[in-house]
Amino acid sequence: MANRLVANATIPAFNCPPGTKMHILNLAVLNVDEAWILTGNNGSTVSQPNPPSTRHLNIAWPAPATDLFPRTVYKEHHKLPAAIAAAGYSITDIKAVIIGHLHLDHAGGLEHFIGTDIPIYVHETEFKHACWAAATGADAGVYLTNYLDLEKLNWQTFDEDVWEVCQGVTMRLMPGHTPGLCAMQVNLEESGVWIWTTDQFHVREHFELKQPQGWLTRDYNAWVKSSKALRKLKEQYGATMIFGHDLDTVKALGFEEKVFQ
Ligand SMILES: [Zn+2]
Repeated sequence: MANRLVANATIPAFNCPPGTKMHILNLAVLNVDEAWILTGNNGSTVSQPNPPSTRHLNIAWPAPATDLFPRTVYKEHHKLPAAIAAAGYSITDIKAVIIGHLHLDHAGGLEHFIGTDIPIYVHETEFKHACWAAATGADAGVYLTNYLDLEKLNWQTFDEDVWEVCQGVTMRLMPGHTPGLCAMQVNLEESGVWIWTTDQFHVREHFELKQPQGWLTRDYNAWVKSSKALRKLKEQYGATMIFGHDLDTVKALGFEEKVFQ
């Protein structure tokens, strides 16, 4: 007897409305000691007690320039309003901001929305964790109070594990790197399904080699569970993965020239 679907038991998956466009913006490039990103890298051995520390190049993120995570490429056109303008829009066209997680290098640019009604969507767990961590210094350095403006930003939280922002765009709770991190799934008619992993996977090695996140590891067991869930989603949807900081991946897609539909 042929297998039959249970009525109404599958999650409907709609494409974004026809004409929807997706751009991938370049907001700066930095490099970092690989041990932050990849567990075991740059570790000493008996035969080589002081190995030269390699740095992971081509990591894209808009963090403040520091000695630890120096920005190696950061010009005027990498600033958010300029990068949006290069894609053919104005920053004043923005209707909503969706945050994957609130680490400082993923929340840069919020200053442009201070004092506006633009909703800033973020998972409730992430918002609570960020406020607590920043205020108490519990995870000092990765969350800062200066961009978590509680009065002049229009914070909007959601608490579902799976939340459809609008037709074809879905946020999925993937705890591990942070407690309330969400991956974003975008279903496009021509280019297919995209999964933006934010820092669940900084680089492709986390996804493809299952290599843990070095000094940036937080809740490892939750991270493994979320990794499995994202692997399954990639298979189910035949999705293209966009990792949090992997410049080579988006370069291969021709991200600066291309509009994805
Ligand atoms: Zn992060």
